[in-house]
Amino acid sequence: MKKWDLFRSHEVELSKEMILDELRTYPYPQLILGLTENCNLRCKYCIFSGNYEEMRTHTFKRMEKKTALKSVQKYIDYIEEWKEYAPDKQPVISFYGGEPLLRFDLIQEVIAYVQQKGFRTMFSMTTNGTLLTDSIIEYLVAHNVMISVSLDGSKEMHDKNRVFANDRGSFEVVYGNIRKLLAEIKRQGKEQLLPTMILSCYENETDMVALNDFFVQEKHIMKVMGGRLSKILDAELGDSGGGNDSMVVLLDQYLQEITAENGENRTSEMFFKERLFGTSLKVSHNRNINPYARNYSSLLGNACIPGSRMFVAVDGTFHMCEKISYQFPIGNCEDGLDINAISEIVEKWSSKFTEQCKECPYQSICGLCYASCAVGDNFDVKGICTTRKTDIERQLSILYGVLERNPDAMRDFSAHKDSIDRKYESFRFVMDKC
Ligand code: SF4
Ligand code: SF4
Repeated sequence: MKKWDLFRSHEVELSKEMILDELRTYPYPQLILGLTENCNLRCKYCIFSGNYEEMRTHTFKRMEKKTALKSVQKYIDYIEEWKEYAPDKQPVISFYGGEPLLRFDLIQEVIAYVQQKGFRTMFSMTTNGTLLTDSIIEYLVAHNVMISVSLDGSKEMHDKNRVFANDRGSFEVVYGNIRKLLAEIKRQGKEQLLPTMILSCYENETDMVALNDFFVQEKHIMKVMGGRLSKILDAELGDSGGGNDSMVVLLDQYLQEITAENGENRTSEMFFKERLFGTSLKVSHNRNINPYARNYSSLLGNACIPGSRMFVAVDGTFHMCEKISYQFPIGNCEDGLDINAISEIVEKWSSKFTEQCKECPYQSICGLCYASCAVGDNFDVKGICTTRKTDIERQLSILYGVLERNPDAMRDFSAHKDSIDRKYESFRFVMDKC
């Protein structure tokens, strides 16, 4: 590695043609339709609650049918055109909001349009789960829509933040609807829709042992349905530090379990802890230490090429992601993607990133992206760097602590075929370069 100078920062210019090439060959392009800016809940940590300076707030704006269908048609055209560059593309059309089920009418229009065009795509939806009536559930399952529902744990935990406008908690409704959804998936024999996702948020002060106990007790929901855990990162709701004592207790349990020598260290009761700790350990373990993996890594870090996801706002403007402010448009439903705008964003980002991160040994694992650093119409990488470094050091320290105690502890993770294939691909690429 020294001989070939593999850790040298590899600076290239990311030209418009290269950007286009990346988009053409990207395997998982996603169209996300923001059907409405309204929601029937008023979750206290919601990014649209008004507590987040850069983000929009709830409004009554709705997407018109022609905007939705034009966006879908643009997406279909891109996929058809780009298939020549990557025939195994896996298109996904997602319904997002606010609460997308406030626009069930438009969801049906979009699905009917896509079917009439004979376009093969996966559908997905992120919902708060309160509006899932029997007939809506039947329709969504029948049309193979992968549904992600938010559930923050027990009634007490969930109702603390996930409330209706009158401050009434939504747990009873959501929990009941998740059970109905599971029953309908089973009734229609659509087990391929599992794992439908449970999205669960926790705060610094959340009792993580109790949260773990809830999901273990409810494993027919969480385990069958899959799931994702996110920490609420916002000063309004407590700082984004390292969690509380219950997190330490749970981590300790997890580390003892995965470093046990009896070979049965990964039990079915561990799925929550695997998601909470295992996922990030896996990312650290499988991090790509090869700076040539993407020949523009040193320009963008792990950030995507804007346009690989297309989030369509209610007015038809394309944005690079549903989590970023509206300050970085990348096109619209009339004209499609604007490569000049994308190129400008990439340039803005890379100038910050190369200036700050070029020599950083954590570059390949840092995972900073546009949304986490957007300030106004520019990016501030510096503001978030110290926290990232502390988190990464802690993560690597835990990972190598685990491996010292049990070198096989990450075997299941590192044996993941795709990741191994990718590593060999990168390796071959390096060898070619050399
Ligand atoms: S359900 Fe989602 S969009 Fe609605 S208030 Fe809660 S977090 Fe916000
Ligand atoms: S840790 Fe800081 S310097 Fe290193 S890549 Fe992340 S933001 Fe850049």
